[in-house]
Amino acid sequence: MVSSGSVPKRSRVKAWFLVVVVVLLSVVGSVSYLGWRQSVPGVVSHTAPPRFVGHKTSLVFTLEATRGNVARVEIRVAQTGSSAVVVTREGALGQRLDIPVVLESATLGLREGGASLEVWARDDFWRPFRLKERAIATYPVTVDLTPPRIEVLGATRYVAAGGSGLVAFRVTGASRATVSAGKLVEPSFPWGPPERGARVALVALPWDLAPGASLAITAEDEAGNVASRALPSELRSRRFPRDRIEIKDAFLQAKVPELLPQRSPSQRLVDGFLVINRELRRQAEETKRRIGASSAETPLWEGPLVQPSRTKVFANFAEMRTYLYGGREIDKQVHYGYDLASTRQSSVPAANRGAVVFAGPLTIYGNTVIVDHGLGLQTLYAHLSSIEVKVGDVVARGQELGRTGATGLAMGDHLHFEVLVNGVSVTPLEWWDAKWIRDHITKPLREAGLPEIGGVDARAAAPAGRAPGRNASRQRN
Ligand SMILES: [Zn+2]
Repeated sequence: MVSSGSVPKRSRVKAWFLVVVVVLLSVVGSVSYLGWRQSVPGVVSHTAPPRFVGHKTSLVFTLEATRGNVARVEIRVAQTGSSAVVVTREGALGQRLDIPVVLESATLGLREGGASLEVWARDDFWRPFRLKERAIATYPVTVDLTPPRIEVLGATRYVAAGGSGLVAFRVTGASRATVSAGKLVEPSFPWGPPERGARVALVALPWDLAPGASLAITAEDEAGNVASRALPSELRSRRFPRDRIEIKDAFLQAKVPELLPQRSPSQRLVDGFLVINRELRRQAEETKRRIGASSAETPLWEGPLVQPSRTKVFANFAEMRTYLYGGREIDKQVHYGYDLASTRQSSVPAANRGAVVFAGPLTIYGNTVIVDHGLGLQTLYAHLSSIEVKVGDVVARGQELGRTGATGLAMGDHLHFEVLVNGVSVTPLEWWDAKWIRDHITKPLREAGLPEIGGVDARAAAPAGRAPGRNASRQRN
């Protein structure tokens, strides 16, 4: 016989069991929830710290709360046991924030040597046990308050606007050394035996450089300490020719549709010409500067540049041109090269050994080749009818690069030739002249006790082409 009380007894056991399970589950659930709360990481630093701290170093600390918001931040700098607070932020600072900081070593009492930047931070995320205030990130840095030292070893004595110069110098404790001519900043390259630590820079002096413009070497270290030294050079002024060019309708009809294919049909040809003469000219200048910035660190050339033989000069460097249309002045531009004319489609020789860094159309210059000779020296050949070389080719002095033509904004078949130093056009006259190179490039290197460029005395090099003169004929650009 079945007991009447056996069923309720069994269900009582079942109920207890359920209660126990629910209690256990809620205890386990609560504990794991609290455990999770406790385990959520606090504030994380995504800062890219500097390696060096100078007199005044700017940096940005980037912090992020994993959950909730950043509630308090303190940036400290610690050195030999003592620590100084740089900045404190408190309140609802958001989930992620940037804190720009300027470290002033004198104010913070920092001395040269090792130090560390500490980020102390907490969030507003609730945890069963409050985290102890601690540094969430520590960055070791080196305090460097000594500016680099610059020693001038040799420099071109007399330089002129629109010309070139050379300076040899030594810097210690610098990560960057540049030479400036007015606002123009130019690179320098390691030169000579490594143990001497010498550098050399070819300097372009823009044609419009003001007579009192400063010529200086600037060195900077990783801590941002800057040192500057004036070049011991004398800057001379130079006069450049002026010219007036009458723009004819036949020229506009021939050139504007070719150089400005996207022109709207309602635009007058002369307005299209102005876009070409201003905007496309400016674009070409930018390309020259960009290409000039990636010159080889070692010289590929030696001796003077060669001028193509049997050519006549039709236009000079830095000629200020006034453009006239229908007797009215419409534009003014500077001509940055020499225009050399010979027979049609005559051979264009490389002015010296180098590597082809540009070969193709270049706005107003038409089909153009740029040869890099290293150390910032480059030559440009424009308006070509054909190009025989490609980018990457190493060319010998005198090697044919292509044939002359009238592509781009040229009025007739001729070679537009430019010498560029760090992408800035300078007068080719200096670089065509063996004596000029001896006195202005070789001499300062010799005075510095440094190797000469190409290891060849310019006197021993082949003679320059015929001296350029001025011709009355009007075939240019
Ligand atoms: Zn020209």
